[in-house]
Amino acid sequence: MAGFTVAIVGRPNVGKSTFFNRLLEQRKAIVDDVSGVTRDRQYGVAEWAGKSFNVIDTGGFVPQSEDVFEREIKKQVLIALEEANAVIFMTDTVTGITDLDDAMADLLRRSPKPVFLAVNKVDNHERYLEASEFYGLGLENTFFISAMSGSGSGELLDAVSALITDDHLQAMEDEKPLPKFAIIGQPNVGKSSLLNALVGEERTIVSDIAGTTRDTIHTHYNLFEKEFVLIDTAGIRRKNKVSEDLEFYSVIRAIKAMDEADVCLLLIDAKQGITAQDLNIFGLAAKKGKGIVFLVNKWDLMEKETNTARDYEKQLKLKIAPFTDVPIIFISVKDKTRIFKAIEMGLEVFENKQRKIPTSQLNEAMQNAMKAYHAPVVRGHAVSIKYVTQLPTNVPSFAFFTNYPDDIKTPYKNYLENKLREDFNFKGVPIRIFFRKK
Ligand code: GDP
Ligand code: GDP
Repeated sequence: MAGFTVAIVGRPNVGKSTFFNRLLEQRKAIVDDVSGVTRDRQYGVAEWAGKSFNVIDTGGFVPQSEDVFEREIKKQVLIALEEANAVIFMTDTVTGITDLDDAMADLLRRSPKPVFLAVNKVDNHERYLEASEFYGLGLENTFFISAMSGSGSGELLDAVSALITDDHLQAMEDEKPLPKFAIIGQPNVGKSSLLNALVGEERTIVSDIAGTTRDTIHTHYNLFEKEFVLIDTAGIRRKNKVSEDLEFYSVIRAIKAMDEADVCLLLIDAKQGITAQDLNIFGLAAKKGKGIVFLVNKWDLMEKETNTARDYEKQLKLKIAPFTDVPIIFISVKDKTRIFKAIEMGLEVFENKQRKIPTSQLNEAMQNAMKAYHAPVVRGHAVSIKYVTQLPTNVPSFAFFTNYPDDIKTPYKNYLENKLREDFNFKGVPIRIFFRKK
């Protein structure tokens, strides 16, 4: 994360999320990755005194058993020290200093990064008097706050934001948004397994979020030195539905996840092949202008000969035509085969989706294409295309300026699209072509 980052650490129930949410409210626009629950931390952007900074709430879902607390707490501190420029260590005046507070304070006293102790739930004067015991933790910067009412948080934020430099602010402004991937597919194709393989042992937090109203979970990843956000719906089940129509809800969730994503990782089961439902989802993703990567999972179950993958790919492309410029990767989540490749491809498609072709390059390539194959003559008049320009849209879109925009039919349009794809890399990305009167 570029810019200045503050991590909030502390044991469960001290008020980290309350404070986190309060911080984000100061700013009207919240970055996307915060709209979902992250597994072990939440990210957001806050603003104080005109300065923006990132905030990490390391709270997440802490397993509710005593023996894992120590480990969780250590992990939180490690995350904080690794990713943040400063740490807000939160405690709770109602419970007073606990063993876990002591353990965290021990770790944080050795921190090379600035630590601010925020003694929370200091809602009134009486509590303020009690709270002075926290000076005993021996941390230099101590603040007494009420995350609920906001009192005292101003002084804390003044102290934190004093550390934010112009360089931090510039870096923040220059930062590109993280790619967002959605893992989509029919039940049992291996979505949860893929997620778990990506999360790995360390970050797998088994959480049964009963009765949750959230439909998607956004998880921020920093894997294989790549950063991205994964949107998934896999772990969420609606408990209150007596007879859940699995198929139906899987489609509803897929669409939600798709809407929030830049690139869809569309999983299919190698043995089963692509189903009608998969084709619907694929068509919808293309229509919505989302990047797409096909992941043919359970490849380990296939009997393979020399050309199995090539033939499979050919068959698949016949089914998804006409939009066939889509990467197809054969993976086995079980054997962890080509999972890295799948992520790399997702990132490549994301890049392709941002691609902006300079007008001069575009015209040079397209003039050649149009010379090689003229637009057909319609009702006795020649159709000529004067120039092409890429529009400043999210989905790569191209406007061709012509004397007779209505007289250019689908085959020629397809020809131009194919030429665009040959000359510039738009693999996995739906592109749009418009004809305009000139
Ligand atoms: P977390 O587990 O550290 O993220 O803690 P939460 O933010 O979920 O807060 C735990 C509980 O403490 C919730 O019931 C909050 O409403 C409550 N709480 C948070 N801040 C304050 C505060 O300033 N005063 C009081 N009285 N309660 C608070
Ligand atoms: P989801 O419903 O899409 O989340 O699918 P799951 O991740 O629950 O997987 C469904 C079943 O397929 C489980 O029994 C997995 O162990 C199995 N599975 C997942 N990936 C693979 C794979 O690459 N190879 C094989 N042989 N089985 C897999």
